[in-house]
Order: sequence, then C-alpha cells, then structure tokens
Amino acid sequence: AQDETGLQGTVVAAYGKRYQVELTDTKQRISCVTRGKKTDLACGDFVLVKLTDKEEGVVESTLPRKTLLFRSNAFKSKMLAANVTQIIIVLATQPSFYEALLNRCLIAAEAAGIKALIVLNKCDLTDNHDALRKLELYSKLGYQVLPLSAKLDISSLRPYLQDEVSILVGQSGMGKSTIINALLPSEAVRTQEVSHVLDSGKHTTTAAHLYHLDASSQLIDSPGLQEFGLHHLNTDELEHAFIEFRPFLGKCRFNNCKHLQEPDCAITEALSQDKISAERLAIYKMLRTEISHQIQH
Ligand code: GDP
Ligand code: ZN
Repeated sequence: AQDETGLQGTVVAAYGKRYQVELTDTKQRISCVTRGKKTDLACGDFVLVKLTDKEEGVVESTLPRKTLLFRSNAFKSKMLAANVTQIIIVLATQPSFYEALLNRCLIAAEAAGIKALIVLNKCDLTDNHDALRKLELYSKLGYQVLPLSAKLDISSLRPYLQDEVSILVGQSGMGKSTIINALLPSEAVRTQEVSHVLDSGKHTTTAAHLYHLDASSQLIDSPGLQEFGLHHLNTDELEHAFIEFRPFLGKCRFNNCKHLQEPDCAITEALSQDKISAERLAIYKMLRTEISHQIQH
C-alpha cells in the first residue's frame, strides 16, 4: 500500500548500485537506486520505495532481514542474498566434487541460520558409490541428502522448494543450470534476465535474480555461485557452525581453547571417540586459520 513511507517491494535483481524491485501490490518491476551513498541492498531484500517516474524509484528503507548471505570475495562484505530460508548445495556423482567446498557451504548455512539441502545430481550414471559413501558423513550429521537426475526428472526436488526461498550453489559441471532450467520456464528466465533498462549488460551474468516458483516459493539464482563468504564470522560463530561440535564447546580445559593442540581439549577428545570426524576437524582448522588471518588485517 502507498503511504508516506512508500511502496512495499522485493529486490528481485541487484546490479552494482542499481536494483530491480518488484512491487508487492501490482507485481510491477521498477528500476531503483538507493538514497545517498547507501548501497547495502541484496537480492531478496524487502524494501520501501518512492516512485520518481513511471518505472523508476528510490529505495527509502530496507525492512529487517531474516537471514543474510555474503559473496565469497575475501575482506569485502559484499551482500549476495537476503531472507533466504534454504541453501541447496548441488553436487554430482561425476565429476568428483570438492568436499571442502561442500563444508564451506554448510558452515555458511549454519552461521546464517539457514537450512541446508544436499542434492546429489546425475544419479542416473552408474558409478555413484564413491559420492554416496562420501556423503554418508553428512547424512549422519543430520543433513538431508537427496539423490537426483535433473536431466531425467526434477519432480523429487519440488516438494523441498515449497514455501521456501531457496538459493542454489555448486561447482560448475554439477548440473546447477540443468536444475534451474527445469524448474523455471525458460521464457520467464529470459525476460527477467534481459534488463537493458538497468544496465548495459555488464553485471547480468553474475547478478543474483529472484524468481517465483509459485506464490509462496522463491528461487534465487546467481550464475557461477560456488560458495559463500565466511569472512564475517568470528571464531566463536565458526565453532558453533560445526553442528557436531556444539555438545563439546565450553568443556575444554581452557576457556579460549582453539581446539588445535591444547591439552584437555573436549573437541580432540571427541575426535578420539569418533564423535567428530577427522575430515570435519581438518576443515575447521583450515577455516579457523583463514578467519584469524583476516582479523589481523
Ligand atoms: P552447471 O555447470 O552446474 O550449471 O552444470 P550443467 O547444468 O551445465 O551440467 C553439466 C553437464 O552435466 C551437462 O553436460 C549436463 O547435460 C550434464 N547433466 C546435468 N544433469 C545431469 C543428470 O542428471 N544426469 C546426467 N547424466 N547428466 C547431467
Ligand atoms: Zn578445545
């Protein structure tokens, strides 16, 4: 509704300092800029805008975000998407996927308070034992692993998208585009991606776009998205993002235990009892080093 604070809308695409906003009432899409130097808007943000012309406006304010995800360029907190409720990590039986990348996505999800769904695509290919064995660790941790053959049939994925704002992430070659194209009628994607009004086309290949699957289910696609930024996390948040660490945190001899080589460390103890895996502890140590280096900058 139009009142003195403006019209309600959703940011459906972000191109540098220009945004495409879909108005809630009319579904009309308008080209927007932000007021002054404020540029901290992300795809999926709920905003209030004032029209300055028929199809142009100024974003007056951003409504509180439920969640926020960052891009992965180090040292820069560049926002990627707001109000996402589910991260879908697309893996495939082949080519083989990087487990470190999978873990970074899981950590980003936990830290942001977003649920994660692991999709193992290309399950129609016969040789999928290695991939399934690698993923057992994650099912045991409580993450849902969904086998899929996007090329043949996408229908088993659909129920997971219902009533969610999902974002897809994956290494190239895993089948992310195949999934997106199967979920979205290609014509809709094309018309939304061509945005001459907003931009000369410079950012269109990397910009995040929000698409409607139905009235209550949204999909955010950011072509080329392989992982999320973790630079905004402190070490405490990092520890808690490893869900299986949680029962042991605060139980080490030292309050400020880093769980690296300290004596009487509850995490190291949990490792020796197979309650924490060596793979996950190694990922933790890698990320811990990364994050501490950033703090020094
Ligand atoms: P992206 O780089 O993650 O976007 O991956 P694409 O969607 O471009 O897929 C990479 C390759 O895998 C293409 O040759 C697809 O045809 C193929 N592919 C995607 N999904 C499947 C699947 O379910 N089964 C098989 N066998 N191939 C698939
Ligand atoms: Zn410890």
